[in-house]
Parts: sequence; C-alpha cells; structure tokens
Amino acid sequence: MIEISSTDRVFILTGAGISAESGIPTFRGAGGLWRNYRFEEVASPRAWQRDPRLVWEFYSMRRRIAAAAKPNPGHLALATLEGRLRNRLFLCTQNVDNLHEQAGSRGAIHMHGELFKSRCDACRLAPFDDTSTYEPPAEILRCECGGRIRPHICWFGEVPYRIDEIFHALDECTLFVAIGTSGVVEPAASFVAHVRARTFYVGPEEPANELAFTKCFLGNAGDVLPNLFRF
Ligand code: NAD
Repeated sequence: MIEISSTDRVFILTGAGISAESGIPTFRGAGGLWRNYRFEEVASPRAWQRDPRLVWEFYSMRRRIAAAAKPNPGHLALATLEGRLRNRLFLCTQNVDNLHEQAGSRGAIHMHGELFKSRCDACRLAPFDDTSTYEPPAEILRCECGGRIRPHICWFGEVPYRIDEIFHALDECTLFVAIGTSGVVEPAASFVAHVRARTFYVGPEEPANELAFTKCFLGNAGDVLPNLFRF
C-alpha cells in the first residue's frame, strides 16, 4: 500500500507495460515489438528520410492494434486517482496510445507523442487528429506547404514533448510512482533519480533502475493498481 496524505503531490510515470494487459505489445520483453522490428528502421528521423512508407506501415500497424484496445483496471485506477487528487496528480506517459483518455484521465502528458495524431515534417502546422492507416502503394500525404505528413511521435534522437513542465512537476512532487517501464529509455529512466521524495515501481519484474526506488510492487498493473493507494 502507498499512503497518500492530503498535501501530497503525486507524479505518475507510465510505460508500455500498463497497456500490455489491454493487448498492446510492449517494446521489450516477451512479445515485444522490437523482436520483429529494428527501431533504427522505423522510429528515427533517419528512417523517415530513408523510407517513409516503411515508417507509415509500422505506425499504421500500431494504430490498428491500439484502435481495438480498451483500458484495463490499471488505467481505470489512475483515472479514479486523478478524480480524487485533481491538480495534485501529474500523469506523464511514455505511451502513445489513448487508453488513459479512454479510461477517463483528462490531464495525461504524452511525452513521446500520440499515435492518433499526425503533423507536417516541415512547417509548424499543429498536430491534428488522424486515425487513418497507410495502405501501400498509397502516396505519403502532403501538407499545403509541400512537407510530408508524419506521425506525431517523438522518435529516437528527437526531444520529448513538454519536458520543462515535466521537470517542474518532478521538482514539486512528494511521491513518485513509475508503472510498467523498463527503466532503460531516457530521459524517463532518469526521472526517479531526480526526485527527492518517496519513489515506487509497479510491474511484473524489477526495472533496470530498480535501485533508485524506495520499493517495487511486483505484479501486473491491472492487479496491483486498483488496491495500491490509501488515503
Ligand atoms: P518497454 O517495452 O521498454 O518495457 C515494458 C515494461 O513493462 C517492462 O519492464 C515489463 O516488465 C513491463 N510490463 C509488462 N507487462 C506489464 C504489466 N501487465 N503491468 C505492468 N508492467 C508490465 O517500455 P517503456 O519502458 O515504456 O519504454 C519504451 C518505449 O515504448 C516508450 O518510448 C513508449 O513510447 C513506447 N511504447 C509505447 C506503447 C504504447 O503506447 N502502448 C507500446 C510499446 C512501446
């Protein structure tokens, strides 16, 4: 159990593991996406320059999987927590699916972007809702400016979104909980080391950065989260 007082400010970091029980594969581990793809070939600016069709095939496949997924008890528990703590909860996710929103969370920060949004690779056109999937031999869509429409995703080698806000919330929090994240993808893997407060991890196995946590709760997010918090 994690005790939350009436003055605690809680930072939650979620990773691919929280969506695993909803049927969305993680990147690493059994059934992980990187067993079938090399990230350099589908999730980097260089990949986009070299073969945008392959990149869109990869993200179209991920859109199809995510479109069929429903939130699990882990997502629902965090939405309930938000309802209780309101602006004392900061929910930061590395996930690009929309399962936190489907569960009812309103304030999730998607530091690695959103699968169901696209943007122009050349101009400052704001990211827009997009559920379409690329079916070869379709052409890559073009923006009015002539640039190509790309997924609104932070690729390897790009800067995560809203990082200033995130570090401000890390400074302010009095309780940090990471869920379903392997602890190897930066900068999120270092968030826990930045926190001067109680730190907890939830997942079926210890993360690579387990020594930085006050305590690890071993188990699936959907089993652990609904009974984890006490007020
Ligand atoms: P990761 O794939 O590196 O690690 C997944 C972690 O989840 C592992 O540590 C595993 O033990 C744990 N896990 C597996 N099942 C779990 C469960 N039922 N409950 C709790 N934990 C469980 O994922 P990561 O650390 O988030 O980092 C990799 C990148 O993966 C991120 O950039 C993210 O954008 C991307 N990603 C996102 C999605 C998604 O949006 N759903 C899916 C795959 C990858």
